[in-house]
Amino acid sequence: MRTHFGGALTEEHIDTTVTLCGWVHRRRDHGGVIFLDMRDRAGLVQVVVDPDTPQAFATADRSRSEYVLTITGRVRRRYAGTENPNMPTGMIEVLGKEVHIINQADTPPFPLNDDFANVGEEVRLTYRYLDLRRPEMLERFQFRSRVTSMIRAYLDRHDFLDVETPVLTRATPEGARDYLVPSRTHQGSFFALPQSPQLFKQLLMVAGFDRYYQIAKCFRDEDLRADRQPEFTQIDIETSFLNEDAIMDITEGMVKELFSTLMKVDFPTFPRMTYDEAMCRFGSDKPDLRIPLELIDVADLVKEVGFKVFSGPANDPRGRVAALRLPGGADKLSRGQIDEYTRFVGIYGAKGLAYIKVNDLSAGLDGLQSPIVKHMESVVFQVLERVGAQNGDLVFFGADRAKIVNDALGALRIRLGHDLGMLTAPWAPLWVVDFPMFEETDDGKWTSCHHPFTMPRCSVDELTRNPGTAKSVAYDMVLNGTEIGGGSLRIYDPAMQQAVFSALGILEDEAREKFGFLLDALRFGAPPHGGLAFGLDRLVMLMTGATSIRDVIAFPKTKTAECLLTQAPAPVDTRQMRELGIRLREKAE
Ligand code: ASP
Repeated sequence: MRTHFGGALTEEHIDTTVTLCGWVHRRRDHGGVIFLDMRDRAGLVQVVVDPDTPQAFATADRSRSEYVLTITGRVRRRYAGTENPNMPTGMIEVLGKEVHIINQADTPPFPLNDDFANVGEEVRLTYRYLDLRRPEMLERFQFRSRVTSMIRAYLDRHDFLDVETPVLTRATPEGARDYLVPSRTHQGSFFALPQSPQLFKQLLMVAGFDRYYQIAKCFRDEDLRADRQPEFTQIDIETSFLNEDAIMDITEGMVKELFSTLMKVDFPTFPRMTYDEAMCRFGSDKPDLRIPLELIDVADLVKEVGFKVFSGPANDPRGRVAALRLPGGADKLSRGQIDEYTRFVGIYGAKGLAYIKVNDLSAGLDGLQSPIVKHMESVVFQVLERVGAQNGDLVFFGADRAKIVNDALGALRIRLGHDLGMLTAPWAPLWVVDFPMFEETDDGKWTSCHHPFTMPRCSVDELTRNPGTAKSVAYDMVLNGTEIGGGSLRIYDPAMQQAVFSALGILEDEAREKFGFLLDALRFGAPPHGGLAFGLDRLVMLMTGATSIRDVIAFPKTKTAECLLTQAPAPVDTRQMRELGIRLREKAE
């Protein structure tokens, strides 16, 4: 039907007769001449239809937004003064000679052209196929497709094999709930959708495949706070006989290549920072290094002060007292803004936000403005010296359990950086390394920081004696404060794997039952191996400047994990349930 994409026409096509197929993006009637902005996958082009081709004119006149047309006409230069430099095809137009309506369209529930603004996401997701017609959306998916094909090319070049792993499988613990699929042939038993291909990729290493990758769907039933999706895509990678440096080098090379080819951004070697340093300086294991503010510990200075808010956490081994200095902040923030930031840190559990405005250091205590100075007069100048305070600075404090201080001041640091326009660079990648093996839960148990297959940096003995201090050979790639990838070397010794399960409170029988196949495989000559996985959606989101991963997933789910387009999940009929041997319980009142 089509000879050319309208959106791809240029001055080179002038005087060519073309047949276009596409949608009416906009129709304008200019006193006897009809202008149709026609849209296809390549973009927009203006078509002009004159009354001296009466049949074409009448058809153009009847056409409405989103009608599907085929148009044959001649490409010509636009008249001087009517060019549109904002449009790639803005120097030309097509003089339509034949216009046919292939299909009509109801009036779309929202405008797809320039009038698209403030359209609610619910209606966009319900009519996603229309939302995806918008050039901005199409561009994001074209970009995403370039990203995946470059990744494949890079990994192919580095001898990785693309292998698919099952979607109907057993639970792989990555810290979320599983999506379960009932089995018809084994009633009462369930498949779990993979939270990641973790165990299969390890088994592929035991199989000797040496280097594996997969652009894999993963499923996690999480409470969808923040910007998460129940199904998302990972670039999943595993290698054998490589140490962590080699794995980080290969995958860093991949990200660098993506950025330099697609974004024209050349990254130097990514800095590497230990987890401990990141938490200490930035209160976060995914620090945004574009923001030049840092947390500074002052607990040792305030241990003896009468002010319990500070001395309490300062003397508690799980506590932290830290300062965040905002250079020049005394004039930048009003009382009202400080109150607003106090409410903000409250979200992270902080009970308040102490601060000192440093007006004039030479004036002693009179030069300081603060609700807390009177409680810590004896040490205040030591504290200010420690944080490097200058006249005009504002110093915030956090004092509480370390986790609360880190979360609260870490978030405040990011918020201030954005609110006050302090970003020092457009991009700041880094590796965070040497994560702890375990985190303590509120009920005093250990959970894996990464996952239970991660290799510790210590012996079985040390791990068993001191799980809380054990470090792992795990690494995260962080970009602009977002974790875009994470991985580790894996345990390949069954005794160590068993020790980690024990530390996690997984009893031997239970470990056998759930992971017997892995423990067996480790006994049949498992090579040292390790890898990582990137979150493709997040990576593409950052690269395209989209504000949500939903904007780079063609058919995403809502924050409550439903698909508005297909209305999934949906009830199923009783016959299907019976086949599965399932009966629903009465809904709890
Ligand atoms: N399976 C891990 C994850 O999904 C990544 C890895 O360790 O390779 O986070």
